[in-house]
Amino acid sequence: MSAVRDDVRAPAETGVGDDAGTPAGLVDLRVRCMVCDATYPGDRPLTRCEACGGLLDVDLALDGPVRPEAFGVGLPPVLRSSGVWRYWSLLPALPEAAIVSRAEGNTPLYWDDRLAAYAGLGTGQLGFKHEGHNPTASFKDRGMTVGVSHARAVGARIVACASTGNTSASLASYAAAAGMPALVLIPEGKISGGKLSQTIAYGARVVQVAGDFDQALALLRQLTDAYDVYLVNSVNPFRLEGQKTIIFELLEELGWRVPDVIALPGGNLGNTAAFGKALGELMRVGLIDRLPKLAVIQAAGAAPFAAYHASGYRAFAAVVAETVATAIKIGNPASTPRARRSVELTQGVVTTVSDDEILDAKAAIDRAGIGCEPASAASLAGLRRLVADGAIAPDATAVGILTGHVLKDADAVVSYHLEDRDDAPRPSANRPVRVAAELPALERVLADALHG
Ligand SMILES: *Cc1c(COP(=O)(O)O)cnc(C)c1O
Ligand SMILES: [Zn+2]
Repeated sequence: MSAVRDDVRAPAETGVGDDAGTPAGLVDLRVRCMVCDATYPGDRPLTRCEACGGLLDVDLALDGPVRPEAFGVGLPPVLRSSGVWRYWSLLPALPEAAIVSRAEGNTPLYWDDRLAAYAGLGTGQLGFKHEGHNPTASFKDRGMTVGVSHARAVGARIVACASTGNTSASLASYAAAAGMPALVLIPEGKISGGKLSQTIAYGARVVQVAGDFDQALALLRQLTDAYDVYLVNSVNPFRLEGQKTIIFELLEELGWRVPDVIALPGGNLGNTAAFGKALGELMRVGLIDRLPKLAVIQAAGAAPFAAYHASGYRAFAAVVAETVATAIKIGNPASTPRARRSVELTQGVVTTVSDDEILDAKAAIDRAGIGCEPASAASLAGLRRLVADGAIAPDATAVGILTGHVLKDADAVVSYHLEDRDDAPRPSANRPVRVAAELPALERVLADALHG
């Protein structure tokens, strides 16, 4: 243990980056505790308040108004071509030399009337922002470019996360880009093959923990408390700064016209937290003058935030999470208080959907040619549920966030379409057919494809 301690010094024993002095760009950077308002310099890897243990926010001195035409203008090409860094004036000012970017963001927005009808909304009323079209195929890249850049700026030697799969794939890629070692803790046997393959391929040191995600994160926090290991889970306030740009980019694409509802899956609740902060900041700098409702959708088997919300925020209880949507299979969301703040700010709604509702919504998104991983489809399943319940009006305009790509979880596709179910066969299962290598057999398939 002492050998490790000598090699990776504990944070208390050193100001990170002290050899070189505080990096120039970090002098103005501050983080603020959301509970007790204590502030700390942003030149250290802090993930909780030293006074009260509360969650931290990056404290931005935003001097509005911001002109929307100015985004990207005057930035070097690497930053301008990133859908994160082009919003430079609304992000923490990291030293340019520390920034690790992969042209993340710049994701498409798809309008689809079949899916609008599925949700119970009108023609032209439902769009999906597809965050699966990021470099490692999930929205995690938007946070990771800021997290890993901050890690570099503060002189971190190793970056680490616990992950249900997408954070690890993203961290592995960005750490490789930065030339830094990455340590990834994953719940054993519980992440998809696609996500695990990415993480291994990009060269992270993968540790399978005999436990679930919540246990893996708790274990890692013991390590990062004791050693100088930079934690990039979404308790890290810098990661959430990058995730704000989903909202910035979406609203810019909409000409700053705000939809009535923005629906997203809720797992560890980092995105929910980031979206609320982003919307509050856009109001502050005068780019929008009203707020959309955030609709946070949890899987029924992993819904501690929905229960907390339903109790009027009186009683929070962690759960043991169970759902097919592994990216939101989280029983004790790290960003719960921040997510509450976002839902309160936007007078948002929180609801739950069953695994079957998630899988059917996913099949509809996939069938529209768009495709997403299971957790992402909670956004559509949740909208459908909220419209049916009357919580969202059928003439509302909504945008759902598709958080990850269809190829992230190929097993989910195979098991939905190809596996036999005794209880109720899937109505829209799409089974490949097998034919003899003869034209008449293929002709029968053609007739079927044209008429069926
Ligand atoms: C991480 C992730 C989520 C959950 O996001 P939170 O910010 O943890 O709530 C949902 N979907 C996908 C695909 C993810 O990778
Ligand atoms: Zn505090």
